[in-house]
Amino acid sequence: MSRLIVVSNRVSVPKARGAAGSQGGLAVALGSALRERRGIWFGWSGKETETYTGDINMQKNDGVTTATIDLEAQDVDEYYNGYANRTLWPLFHYRIDLAEYETGFGKGYERVNKRFADSLGPLIEPEDMVWVHDYHLLPLGSRLRERGNKNKIGFFLHIPWPPRNLLVALPFHERLVLTMLDYDLIGFQDEESVDSFLGYCRKELQADVREDGTVTYDGRSVKVAAFPIGLDYDEFLEGGQSGEARQAEQRMRSSSRHRKVIIGVDRLDYSKGLPERFDALGRFFDTYPDRVAQTLYVQIAPPSRQDVVSYQRIRNTLEQKAGQINGERSEVDMVPIRYVNKGYPRQALFGIYRSAHVGLVTPLRDGMNLVAKEYVAAQDPEDPGVLVLSRFAGAAEQLKDALLVNPYSLEETSEAIRTALDMPLEERKARWEKLNEVIKTSTVEQWRSDFVEALSA
Ligand code: UDP
Repeated sequence: MSRLIVVSNRVSVPKARGAAGSQGGLAVALGSALRERRGIWFGWSGKETETYTGDINMQKNDGVTTATIDLEAQDVDEYYNGYANRTLWPLFHYRIDLAEYETGFGKGYERVNKRFADSLGPLIEPEDMVWVHDYHLLPLGSRLRERGNKNKIGFFLHIPWPPRNLLVALPFHERLVLTMLDYDLIGFQDEESVDSFLGYCRKELQADVREDGTVTYDGRSVKVAAFPIGLDYDEFLEGGQSGEARQAEQRMRSSSRHRKVIIGVDRLDYSKGLPERFDALGRFFDTYPDRVAQTLYVQIAPPSRQDVVSYQRIRNTLEQKAGQINGERSEVDMVPIRYVNKGYPRQALFGIYRSAHVGLVTPLRDGMNLVAKEYVAAQDPEDPGVLVLSRFAGAAEQLKDALLVNPYSLEETSEAIRTALDMPLEERKARWEKLNEVIKTSTVEQWRSDFVEALSA
C-alpha cells in the first residue's frame, strides 16, 4: 500500500479515539488513514517567527508522523489573514462585497505555497500519494510539479466553489484555476461546486469537459467529483453517552422548563446567516406573539478570526440584534434569546442538540455544515426534533427530508420555525429516520476512503 501524505494549512496532532480533549472528525479520519498507510501530515505549526527558516519539526504521535514549519509574521498577515481569509473565503462564500484584493496578499499566498512545496518536496517518496486540503493551498500541487514531482496528487476543497461569474471578479483568477489543473483529482463538497468549477473550465478556459467530470487542458487531465464529508458517526454517538453530554442535556431541559427550545450553533462568521436568522426569529415572534413565552432560542456562537474587520462587525451587529429582540420581548423571569459567545466541547453539544425541538441551521452559503448532521445524529429516535436547513448549505443536497428554507426570506424561515415546532410525532419520526440513514452511511470515514480510492484509481 502506498504511503499517504496529507497537507493542510494547520496540522492537528492526532490523538487516539476517545482520548481526553476530543478533536474533529476530520483529524480522526485522516489520522486513521495515516496510521494505516504510515504517512505524514504536513502543514504550518501555527507559530510565527521573525524570519522564515524552513526548519521542519517532525514528530510521531500515536503512530502518526507530523511535519510542521513555522511561518514569519508577514506570511501570516498576507497568506493566512490576507489572501485566504480576506480574499478567498468571502469570494468563495459568494460575498464579493467583502472580498479584499491586495497585491501583497496574492504575493504572500504564492510565497507560502512555494515554501510549503520546497519543504515538503524532499519528504515525498516516488510511490507516495499526496492529498492537499482546502483554499489555503490551491496552487500547491502545481508548485510541487514545478519541482519535478510526478506522484498522484489530489485536492479537496472544504468550502464552496463559486460560480464562474463571481470567480471572474478575482484578479488573476485564470492563473489560480490553471494551477489546479496540475492535480490528478479535485474533490468538492457538493455537485453545485462541481458544476461551477466545470462551468468555469468550459467557458473561461475552453477546456474539454467530459460528462464524467474529466477536464482536459493543454495535454493534461484532471478528474473532478463531489465527495460530501460526514461525521465520525460512531464516535459522536459514543460521546453522547458521556456524563458531559447528559449533564448538558439536563441543564438545558431544567432551565428551559416548559418552553420549546430552538438551537443554533455556528462559528461567528458572516457566511452563517446569523443576522438574517435573528431577523427571522423576530418576525416569528411578531407573527405569533403567544409563542414568545413558549419558545426559547439558544444561539451558541464562538467568535472566530477576530483579527479580520468583517468579523468584528458581524459580532457587533448580532449583539445589537439579540439585545433588541430580548429588550422588546423579555419579561422579568423570561428572555426569548440566549446568545452565548463561547464554544462548547462536542460532547456537551450532543446533549444541547438533544434537548432542542428544532435545529435551526441557516447559512447563506456553506461548504457542508456539520452542525446540521450532528443535530440529527443527536436526536432521540422515539421523539426526534426537526431540522430547519438552508438550501444553500452543501448538506442540503443530501438532507432532503429537512425543512429546507431560503435564509434570505424572513417569511419562509419564520414559517418553517412554526411548522417545525408544531410537527406531529409521526412526521418527525419519518423525516428523522430518512435523515439519520444518510448521515449514518455518509460518514467521514466513507468520505476519506472514497477520495483515497478515487485518487489511487
Ligand atoms: N463546534 C464545537 N463547539 C462549538 C461550536 C462548534 O465543537 O461551540 C464544532 C461543531 O460540533 C462542528 C464544527 O465545530 O463539528 C463546525 O463545523 P461546521 O461544518 O458546521 O462549520 P465550520 O465552522 O466548519 O464552518
